[in-house]
Amino acid sequence: MLSKLRAELQGGSSEEYLCKLYEKIEKSSLNGFTTLARDSALEAARNFDKSPGQGLLAGVPIAIKECISTRGIETNCSSRILRGYIPPYDAHVIERLKAEGAIVMGKTNMDEFAMGSSTETSCFGPTRNPWDINCVPGGSSGGSAAVVAGGEAPCALGSDTGGSVRCPASFCGIVGLKPTYGLVSRYGLVAYANSLEQIGPLTHTVEDTALLMDIIAGHDARDTTSANRESRSYLIGLHDGVQGLKIGIPKEYFGEGVNKDVEKAVWDGVHTLERLGATWQEVSLPHTKYALAAYYVIAMSEASSNLARFDGLRYGLRDSEDKDWHTTFSAIRSKGFGPEVKRRILLGTYALSAGYYGRYYLKALKVRTLIKDDFLKAFKDVDIIAGPTMPIPAFRIGERINDPLSLYLADVFTVPINLAGVPAVSVPCGFAGRLPVGLQLIGPHFGEARVLQAAQAFEAATPFHEKTPEVI
Ligand code: GLN
Repeated sequence: MLSKLRAELQGGSSEEYLCKLYEKIEKSSLNGFTTLARDSALEAARNFDKSPGQGLLAGVPIAIKECISTRGIETNCSSRILRGYIPPYDAHVIERLKAEGAIVMGKTNMDEFAMGSSTETSCFGPTRNPWDINCVPGGSSGGSAAVVAGGEAPCALGSDTGGSVRCPASFCGIVGLKPTYGLVSRYGLVAYANSLEQIGPLTHTVEDTALLMDIIAGHDARDTTSANRESRSYLIGLHDGVQGLKIGIPKEYFGEGVNKDVEKAVWDGVHTLERLGATWQEVSLPHTKYALAAYYVIAMSEASSNLARFDGLRYGLRDSEDKDWHTTFSAIRSKGFGPEVKRRILLGTYALSAGYYGRYYLKALKVRTLIKDDFLKAFKDVDIIAGPTMPIPAFRIGERINDPLSLYLADVFTVPINLAGVPAVSVPCGFAGRLPVGLQLIGPHFGEARVLQAAQAFEAATPFHEKTPEVI
């Protein structure tokens, strides 16, 4: 899709294409965009029309999640505390995209500071799912997924700490990849839980995801966790098929708590891969049942430390400065953070405090190692692991927001992947009623090529990626 769009723009007009998208967004009921970068985007498009460059995404617009820093364009993480903050620099991924001629068309809505799975905790109100506007688009990169699925942007970037790219990809019927930890630089990504998160693409097709990965993956010295590996193209070998591929089906990823339609669509997907030449066998990831507890302790602990920097003194929300420091600090944070963020700062601070550190945080780190070992062991027998991305299809807006635990439980199959640091992609594999279902394909560390290759074979043999919602 993106390479076709790029070719069309070479002979056509990026400005015209962009204007059509903006027109559509104006009339949209999705609430997927927070800021439109109209002026800078149209200027870039006009420059492209005058002299089209040859970059991999020359003239192609892209939507960017609110928590990825964009020079000159507000970056507020959908939080009141960062309203008005305009970064003086671009994130590494944005530099890469611009170097390939991509045009940042705007920023997309998200759960506040990426804490959530429904995009309902945003200070801009919820984003809607284009397949059913009464439902959530998933989260936290719900805006990015909804605008791609709804035809308001050809592709987008999100971030995934515990499922935030794959969950909305699954709920909105598109492709979303969480890369191996360290493959994509986090420089310029506003941190929620550093040890878990990666930036990843949200696109209509697997090939588009591979293309975006070719652009954003690679070493960056400004992120100390960035892996220094030889770069490769994920487009090479993408169409090589799945003949002889060994797929592991974790027994812990099926059964209780998994919606029947989801389970059926995922099994149909596995059988499709089997018909294409792959084989499957059962594997066990025995510590899956501890993953959610470990994830939430680690994520909240890291968040409580990361979010300490938002004091309203250097950037973002301000308050009157004639009070003492503590009063000002508390007033700004009370006003600036929403309830979910406050809950997590409190719980994270508690888990890290003297006396509880060993009982909660250290213990969670130990469980994390066990979960990682589960994957390492399974990958001795199989090439990839397959299962549902989410145990349920998209739920209705408002249905779970007052019951945080039920929201956290929905992340049961996405968080283990972040704890282990391995890559996983969600590809559309069917429907539960009229709502899309995602198949999650998980690979070993730096096994993106293998995972994308399987996803590509699956996509080529199934019609789901061609279906588009009738957005009202
Ligand atoms: N839903 C998970 C959380 O709330 C994951 C979010 C994410 O990946 N940013 O932490």
